Amino acid sequence: MVECEFCNIVADKSPSNKIYEDENILAFAPLKKGIISKGHMLIIPKKHYSNIYDIPKEELYHIMDSIKHISQKLKDKFNAEGINLLHASGKVAQQSKFHFHIHLIPRYRDDGLDAWPKTGYEEDNFPNVYKEIADLFK
Ligand SMILES: [Zn+2]
Repeated sequence: MVECEFCNIVADKSPSNKIYEDENILAFAPLKKGIISKGHMLIIPKKHYSNIYDIPKEELYHIMDSIKHISQKLKDKFNAEGINLLHASGKVAQQSKFHFHIHLIPRYRDDGLDAWPKTGYEEDNFPNVYKEIADLFK
């Protein structure tokens, strides 16, 4: 079995800066060099799932519920007027830790972050591609 760094944090086998936890989720600070805004943290399920494809929806409900709770606290305490949620599933999406996690990134006026970098991508097949996607649900 592959060692999972985040499972070790849940089990207190690795040092971490735990912020908040309940029976289902854990919120902790990233490594100091990885912090990109005041209050930036990771939210993980206590059980191991790799990505969006294998995590049960009930676990996502727990995570999103905690994110709402934490977001309000950060707004009240630090005046974080906004929040970005960042999740990566898959190497192509730059996932580097293969225990499901969501970055909660508090946003502040003039914080210098850019959540929507320009990629140069243009959808040449618009709107047909979205029709194809919508058809997946019919
Ligand atoms: Zn894990």
